[in-house]
Amino acid sequence: MTKLYGSVEAGGTKFVCAVGNSEFEVIAKTQFPTTTPEETLEKVIAFFKPYEELEAVAVGSFGPIDIDETSPTYGYVTKTPKPYWSHVDMIGPLKEALQVPFYFTTDVNSSAYGEVIARDGVENLVYYTIGTGIGAGAYQHGEFVGGIGHTEMGHTYLMKHPSELDFRGVCPFHDGCLEGLAAGPSLEARTGIRGENIPLESDVWEKQAFYIAQAAIQATMMFRPEVIVFGGGVMAQEHMVKLVHYHFLRLLNDYLPIPAIEEYIVTPAVPNNGSATLGNFALAMKVADQSQD
Ligand code: ZN
Repeated sequence: MTKLYGSVEAGGTKFVCAVGNSEFEVIAKTQFPTTTPEETLEKVIAFFKPYEELEAVAVGSFGPIDIDETSPTYGYVTKTPKPYWSHVDMIGPLKEALQVPFYFTTDVNSSAYGEVIARDGVENLVYYTIGTGIGAGAYQHGEFVGGIGHTEMGHTYLMKHPSELDFRGVCPFHDGCLEGLAAGPSLEARTGIRGENIPLESDVWEKQAFYIAQAAIQATMMFRPEVIVFGGGVMAQEHMVKLVHYHFLRLLNDYLPIPAIEEYIVTPAVPNNGSATLGNFALAMKVADQSQD
């Protein structure tokens, strides 16, 4: 019998569910908007229920989430500004309905793992998504980096661009964090124009690249990864990657040896935002294997 694995990308605006085989080929896929927890989780269950060969499911979720398996609130979305979703048990109802092992992690950890799988021989990788928000996952020698919780690398404080020392960014919690200064909504906050409509020659891109390059510097200094992947809508623009390379090299100032810059700071190897789905299939396979030991 064919073994099948499930992927849930639980996002703040939409959920993407997929079923794949052991070659990580997508057999079926669906997506729907994130509404109330009851309604949304019911749709997840309805999607997976017909697949009797389902071995395990991995969920990569928006956060913050509780991924500590010894915690009474393991599998919960914790305190989130997202309406209806604070302190909600995400994994409990899914597990009860589908009766298979689950793996629960952040959406960016899922993507980081997908990129590890897609890049033969890479064991140390940092993945950032630059979109409506900014999150990152770091993977080192077989494990996600994290301690009492998952990392929150999107909220580290940065050095501000000299031309906008008074701009506090759009994060309600921090004056001058990465997400506040470089996520999509920061572009509109500066210019009054939505990011996708800002012309290429605007100096706002230069500022954003300066901040994203600082994130790459932090990842380099803290984790010494083999590769740093930047996903998300903003990085789909070719000129951004080049600007980030430029600022990164300037800020690094030859302090450390790194791989060739074009191979070190890159966009995803998995096309069409597929990193998280691939990562989830692989994580589901891992948790299925472990539960059979
Ligand atoms: Zn912040």
